[in-house]
Amino acid sequence: MAKKFFHIAIDGPVAAGKGTVSKLVAQRLGFLYVDTGAMYRVAAYLAQQNQVAYTEEQKIVDLIKSSKIEMRTPLADPVKPSQKSKSIVSEQDGRLITVLLNGEDISWKIRTEEISQGASKVSVLPKVRKILVEKQQKIAHGQNVVMEGRDITYRVLPKADLKIFLTADVRERAKRRLLQLQLKGLDASLQEILQEIKERDTRDMNRKTDPLKIVPEAWKLDTTQLAIEKVVGKIVDKTKKMKTHNQK
Ligand code: C5P
Repeated sequence: MAKKFFHIAIDGPVAAGKGTVSKLVAQRLGFLYVDTGAMYRVAAYLAQQNQVAYTEEQKIVDLIKSSKIEMRTPLADPVKPSQKSKSIVSEQDGRLITVLLNGEDISWKIRTEEISQGASKVSVLPKVRKILVEKQQKIAHGQNVVMEGRDITYRVLPKADLKIFLTADVRERAKRRLLQLQLKGLDASLQEILQEIKERDTRDMNRKTDPLKIVPEAWKLDTTQLAIEKVVGKIVDKTKKMKTHNQK
């Protein structure tokens, strides 16, 4: 019998904690963590770097097709840094994943405000979604994954073993985002962030192709009052129970 892999699909609005939760769940279960938002961010970055408007669907698709996009778990720092490795930038700098574009590390370059909005804009383009969804399905094929995004529970992994909709009150999400920025030494106001989150959520929920939605079978987890560790624990426990049950 073919080996059955376990797929956890997590959808939810901007800054609901999907990345942090998914990464920790994946670590605890030994699964691969896949951040699909990073792919839309790369698409926006490619457009920006090539002076292509975020609305130019075919040009963006061509850019994606002609680029080498790689995502991997951040590499561990060498135990004893040698003289030589001092020049190598550490990947243990708070990032959840490492993203390489044609070999260049763009993990932080795709996290700017401009690229967040750009990703949100290119994600309404059906052909861009199609090519990225295919890439995401290829990654999940043949391995255990925790994949997070906006359309994972019904488009990318419609047969996922566990489907989750992770959400939180919009003010709480804005506060968390502000804290993240402040920790990085960046400046922003709560009002600006709130505005930006609402804009992206509205675009995600109202686009024609694969909008953000809750599928009926999804387990809805509201993290407004729940610590991240608690959420992670709940998902890990449920997965372990389901896996044991499936083996019986
Ligand atoms: O998750 P993150 O905020 O990094 O995603 C960037 C943007 O990519 C989102 O604002 C959303 O518009 C888009 N996205 C999407 N479908 C996904 C993942 C992200 O449309 N599966």
